Amino acid sequence: MIAKIEKINQESIHNGKEIIEKGGVVAFPTETVYGLGVSAYNGKGVSQVFEVKGRPNDNPLIVHIADISDVSLVTSNFTNLARTLLEHFAPGPITVVVDKGDKIADEVTAGLDSVGIRIPELQSARDFIKATKVPLAAPSANTSTRPSPTTAQAVFEDIGSKIPLILDGGACEVGIESTVVDCRFETPIILRSGKITREDIEKVWGSCDVATNTSTVRSPGVKYKHYSPSCKMLAMNTSNKVLVETTVNKLVKAGETVVLIGNETLKDTSFVEFINLGTTVDDFMKYYYEALRTGEKLGSIIVCVLPFTENHAEGLYNRVRKSCGGDIV
Ligand code: AMP
Ligand code: MG
Repeated sequence: MIAKIEKINQESIHNGKEIIEKGGVVAFPTETVYGLGVSAYNGKGVSQVFEVKGRPNDNPLIVHIADISDVSLVTSNFTNLARTLLEHFAPGPITVVVDKGDKIADEVTAGLDSVGIRIPELQSARDFIKATKVPLAAPSANTSTRPSPTTAQAVFEDIGSKIPLILDGGACEVGIESTVVDCRFETPIILRSGKITREDIEKVWGSCDVATNTSTVRSPGVKYKHYSPSCKMLAMNTSNKVLVETTVNKLVKAGETVVLIGNETLKDTSFVEFINLGTTVDDFMKYYYEALRTGEKLGSIIVCVLPFTENHAEGLYNRVRKSCGGDIV
């Protein structure tokens, strides 16, 4: 099989809908990353998604709906907290975890009695979900452990030989996955960080916890290797150009081909391929995964330089730590 890449429009949405109706899988754009969609009611179809991605089957999928009025298709216990967060942040990059409804296939939630619900902000994504008339279970449309795809081409690179159709909506605006929030208790608990921060949620609800390492078993996905390029990677938090140059020079002397990713101030660094991630935290999130995919083709090691601290950039820091499998120095 070789995936067709079709610009997302009425006609391609119709083609995608027909595949979903038969229990097949279709990759589609959202504002966060590209998703690999399947009917959340079709257990067999959902199993295919795990196979295509090589995803561990204890890692649950998020269910996507087109409108808040469709939550009853996914849960019969929509908590006040979940409603408040969706009313405030959705459509947008947030996933609320609530009790799983009976019709959702057990494969979607990997046997958990809870389910994650998201309403994407991208209009064409919602048009596609609406056309299928079912909630769509959709993880990121990459091979497990790889950087998530933020373009149709990146989806094709990873899984183009395993799926029939990729709906192309251009480059994703947000660029990292949604903030996943457990909404089953009094206080929201962030299970996976994202563009929407703890502070954003506190402003709406008054309180918000973040799952600690010992409690991350609540969100099975966070324990796995994730978002990693095929080459080595090192990450630094600094605005000191000299420090970056010293680090790069050491690596070059050791025989490495260095790809430097960071802001414009680093563009003249010698002996590297440079990829500009922009200036703001939002820019860095938007261009990060694509830079990893370009970088792995150009060098033997990627050096990622973060010029800002973790404060207000918790989602980005989380992805960068996972990508390099260690600390940011
Ligand atoms: P991905 O599909 O690659 O964006 O990953 C989905 C993330 O959401 C993983 O970290 C999952 O563990 C998490 N997730 C999905 N459903 C649930 C759930 N019911 N409870 C806790 N975490 C969930
Ligand atoms: Mg993923």
